[in-house]
Amino acid sequence: MSKVTVCARFRPLSSSEIRDHGSCVSIHRIDDESFNFKDEKDGDLSFSFDKVFYEDSAQASVYEVLALPIVQDAVSGLNGTILSYGQTGAGKTFSMEGPGIIKCDAERKGLIPRVIEGLFEMINASQGEAVYSVKLAMVEIYMEKVRDLFDLSKDNIQIKESKSQGILLSGVTEIPLLEASEAMQILSNGILNRAVGETQMNASSSRSHCVYIFTVQQEFSADKRTKTGKLILVDLAGSEKVGKTGAEGKLLEEAKTINKSLSSLGNVVNALTCTPQSKLTHIPYRDSKLTRILQDALGGNCRMALLCCCSPSLFNASETLSTLRFGARAQ
Ligand code: ADP
Ligand code: MG
Repeated sequence: MSKVTVCARFRPLSSSEIRDHGSCVSIHRIDDESFNFKDEKDGDLSFSFDKVFYEDSAQASVYEVLALPIVQDAVSGLNGTILSYGQTGAGKTFSMEGPGIIKCDAERKGLIPRVIEGLFEMINASQGEAVYSVKLAMVEIYMEKVRDLFDLSKDNIQIKESKSQGILLSGVTEIPLLEASEAMQILSNGILNRAVGETQMNASSSRSHCVYIFTVQQEFSADKRTKTGKLILVDLAGSEKVGKTGAEGKLLEEAKTINKSLSSLGNVVNALTCTPQSKLTHIPYRDSKLTRILQDALGGNCRMALLCCCSPSLFNASETLSTLRFGARAQ
């Protein structure tokens, strides 16, 4: 897989961080692609990504670099994946959704509402013979169980594979999206349902992966032939390590499960990026529900974008380093 974009993003210090610690992780900015990170143990470490978004970065530029090419691909019938990775509080959801979906100011809108607008703009501008239809499914992966966010009663969706359609979520609710503003309402309902489900299960959204699946189908009027592009966005569970002594019971089980699925994601991406196409024999997609769902949106001709979200606070330096290392390994 050659089409991988890996970016790092540092959010601004929050007001409580300014009050409590006040200091930023030591980043020596080299340019828009690279920086040195001063580590207490290992000294100066240099990191390079396709792009680094610093505290003052705009949501619009995150969209342009990470998502735009993948949205274009989906409209032309290709699959792609966009992932936000990082510890809880690092800015994954802010990057993906923005501070909210409905009534969010234009500037702070996140990737997903921008993807929706981009899809409809491109489809409306298309001059071809095809009639387009767009559908959205939203699921959450918690403790290796897949739950439908448009129908919470479907709390154990099975993943199947078909020769003609690829990876399928059996019985998942797919809502047709007819135009952008209605799509935002549908998206917002899915997000609201997620919060309802969490309260029911006494769980936290930071402990599950939230998966948004857009299916863009073209039907050619001449011969009724169809072509489908699938765009999957994932707001990943928090990557933080749970202290060896502190966690027990449910929290420890959650942490182990998240750790396992994030490392299987790392392994799959690493296998795809580091192995020459001819030598690619086994890619461990089946090691987690997450990689299984992403199977046909990661390999082959698919584009993948990874946003490594980092806290700028010195307090979080070791988690930031581990996030940056995850990103570096994916390149
Ligand atoms: P995560 O989803 O990784 O747990 P959030 O996206 O919820 O983290 O971000 C944590 C807090 O930081 C939120 O209050 C969010 O609004 C704020 N935040 C994150 N990224 C930015 C940013 N780029 N600019 C301004 N505020 C941000
Ligand atoms: Mg979040």
